[in-house]
This record gives sequence, C-alpha cells and structure tokens, in this order.
Amino acid sequence: MFSKILIANRGEIALRILRACKELGIRTVAVHSTADQDAMHVRLADESVCIGPPIARDSYLNIPQILAACEITGADAVHPGYGFLSENARFAEILEAHGITFIGPTSEHIRMMGDKIVAKQTAQELGIPVVPGSDGAVRPEDDHHAIAAKIGFPVLVKAAAGGGGRGMKVARTAAELDTALSTARSEAKAAFGDDAMYMEKYLGQPRHIEVQVLGDGQGNAIHLGERDCSLQRRHQKVFEECPSPALNDAQRQQIGEICAEAMRKMKYRGAGTIEFLYENGEFYFIEMNTRLQVEHPVTEMVTGIDLVNEQIRIASGAPLTISQDDIRFTGHAIECRINAENARTFVPSPGTITYYHPPGGLGVRVDSGVYQGYTIPPYYDSLIGKLIVHGRTRVECLMRLRRCLHEFVVDGIQTTIPLFSDLVDNQDIANGAYDIHWLEKFLKEEQTL
Ligand code: ADP
Repeated sequence: MFSKILIANRGEIALRILRACKELGIRTVAVHSTADQDAMHVRLADESVCIGPPIARDSYLNIPQILAACEITGADAVHPGYGFLSENARFAEILEAHGITFIGPTSEHIRMMGDKIVAKQTAQELGIPVVPGSDGAVRPEDDHHAIAAKIGFPVLVKAAAGGGGRGMKVARTAAELDTALSTARSEAKAAFGDDAMYMEKYLGQPRHIEVQVLGDGQGNAIHLGERDCSLQRRHQKVFEECPSPALNDAQRQQIGEICAEAMRKMKYRGAGTIEFLYENGEFYFIEMNTRLQVEHPVTEMVTGIDLVNEQIRIASGAPLTISQDDIRFTGHAIECRINAENARTFVPSPGTITYYHPPGGLGVRVDSGVYQGYTIPPYYDSLIGKLIVHGRTRVECLMRLRRCLHEFVVDGIQTTIPLFSDLVDNQDIANGAYDIHWLEKFLKEEQTL
C-alpha cells in the first residue's frame, strides 16, 4: 500500500479523496494555487505545497510543478480526482516514468477512451451497443452529405476530442449540415486543438444512463449499477439518481453485465464510467470516462462501496476482492450539484460565505469543501458542493431531499439550491418522467411565465 498520496485537485473532490486516504491510514499531500491557500483540503492534509498562481494552466494543470511537489514530499502516488489532469495520458506516463503511481487506468486506456472515435470503435468491438453513425472520422474530403443521409436526419456532429458538450452541433436537415460541421470543427479546433469530427444519429428524447465499473487490471471486473443523469443544462449534469426510474432489474443486470464483460476483456484497471443514451428500451454508448465522476456518491450510497478506497487499493496492485454477487443495491439515492450561481440565470456568484448550515440526519451526505467565512475564488468552476440523499424508496428519498433543501443555508453568495427546491416539487420529477431536454424546457417555460 502507498504511504503518501498527493491529491492533484481542489474543492470538494480533493476533500473526498483526502477522507478515503485517512481511512486507509495513508498520509496526504495537498497541492494548491495561491487562490486556494485557505481551502479545507489544504487545512486537513498532512502536508501542502503551493504549485502556482490562480490560473489552472499554471497550477492544477502544471505537470512539472506537480511532479516537483511529489519529489519534495516523497509522495508515492497521485490521485487526480476529476477534471484537470484526470484524463491526461501524458501525465499518467510521466508519473510512471518517475516511479510514482497514477491512481487510474493505464495511459493506453486513457488515450483510447479520450478519443471518442477510437472509444466508439473499441466499445463496438467489445460488444457494447453504440449510436449508429459515421464509420470513424468524417474527413474533409469525405462526402459528408452522403454520410449524413445514410445515418438519417437529424444528425449530431461531434468532435473526437470533445468534452463538456463542446464541439457538438445538431443538423436537423441537409441544409443545416455544412454550417453545423464547420462551426463544430472550429469550436473543437479552438477548444481542443484537434478538429477530427464524426457524426451520429441524433436521438430525440433519450435519457442519459451511465454504468459504473471497477476493474483490477488483472482481468477481474464488476459493475455497480447505473446512474441516471438526464437532468442536464447545456449538456452538463445537474441532478443524478441511482437507480434510474426508467430501468427494471433485468435491464440493469443486462447492461451492467455487458459493461463488466467488456472491462474484463480490456483488462481495465480502476474505476470507470460507460455512458449511454437510452431511448425506447435501447442503450447507445456515447463515451467512457476513465476516472472518478462527480456523481459517484449516488452509487456509493446505494451499494455501500467506497469507490475512492477501491481505486486506491486497485492502484496499489491489489486484486478486486468484491465479486458481482457481493453487490447489493439498497434503496434510492439522489445527488444535487450545488453551484455558486444564480439559480435562474446561472451567472457565477463567487464571494464570501457569511453563514453556512448544511443539512444532516439519516441518509444525508454533503460533500463540500466550503465553510462559513470561506471565500469562493472566481477562477474555477462553480461547483461548491453536492447534496446526496438516500432513502429506502425513491419517494422517501425525494421527501428527504425536500427536507434537506429547506435546511440548507448558504448566505453571502447565490447558489442553485432554489432550483432544486422547485425540482423536488415538480410532478414530472416525482414521476421520474424526464429526458435529457426536460430541464432546458422547464427553465425556458419558467422564464416566459
Ligand atoms: P461530452 O464529452 O462533451 O460531455 P458526450 O458525448 O458525453 O459529450 O455527450 C454529452 C451530452 O450530449 C449527452 O449527455 C447528451 O445530452 C448529448 N448527446 C450526445 N450524443 C447525442 C446523440 N447522439 N443524440 C442526442 N444527444 C446526444
């Protein structure tokens, strides 16, 4: 087992990782920018190293600085969290070359899944159902009209290097195709420095359902059920639940087993998420994330398995000790992402938290790095915490969530808590009747009221 882990992240996830390390008796190193010296994970870590100025490019994304912090502190492993360097294959390679363990999959698997075209081809070869679309990349010399016509409109133009919903455009008709392709291409070039594009069938009313997997790199792999992340704004998840109200046990077992089997074939190592769109009873692979997800706690609440603990144990070379039969899904869990933003305009609201009172009680978990008196810096994404609630049934879970949202007080800044209060009172949410467009429509209708 490792003796010291460096946490190459910030905010709630840095604290989440720190907690898992402490419970395993592993010493921790926090790295932080000058803007984060008062962050909770920095206070709680055994050691901390300032790695640069506020701008992430010069601190949290600065590989030489992070490497130097490992060397200074003698850390023998790095947990990258999510975002930042978590899916950077070169970072994983550099660490390994210096004898430091990257807590995650092999750089080869990160690279493979980081390119969405390769990922889709790999998924298909491994028996995972995919969205019908172009056969690999659509090159400038290809007849993109013929390809789109074959797929059938509407089509979605997507960037191979895409992420965060960027480099993605819908063409509803052939007349829209040229513009969709050229805008998506230039957006991808600007955002990722890579303008390789592909096309797929645009699904009209899908849900976003993802499967959590764990593999030990030795050919053992299990699935931990699914998460329904259909409530999205601008392709960003807002509210996630486990299990999905749309699936029955047989469907859950079937898609879970397809994913676990694919991970066994790949000899996948670590935690991963296989994302699908789900429409009319069919699953369509969209991408695989080779890291811990923001919404991992809903799976932990329902399975009782500490995913970060498992990631660390696997990275240290231990085989999986949990078998598929050991996994029991108990009750229902929902996560709300609390952002420092206006709940209607979504304009960021950094600043000082003058009063902070998180909810508590049975089945309640708040993962957050903030505290009363803490000043949220303006340089990073606006997620300040996650409220995760567990109940024996979905109804109990929603009732508990409603109660917790009333209890949650964050003064001095604006947060998205009021949005969730509206959502728990909504009939469609109560019925679990929503797709990936539901939230945008709800927000639009509210604006016109
Ligand atoms: P990113 O990596 O940018 O997040 P994804 O491929 O994961 O991109 O897609 C993000 C979101 O975009 C999905 O959750 C879904 O809302 C939408 N989307 C992606 N592919 C399709 C598709 N073929 N049809 C309809 N919506 C899609």
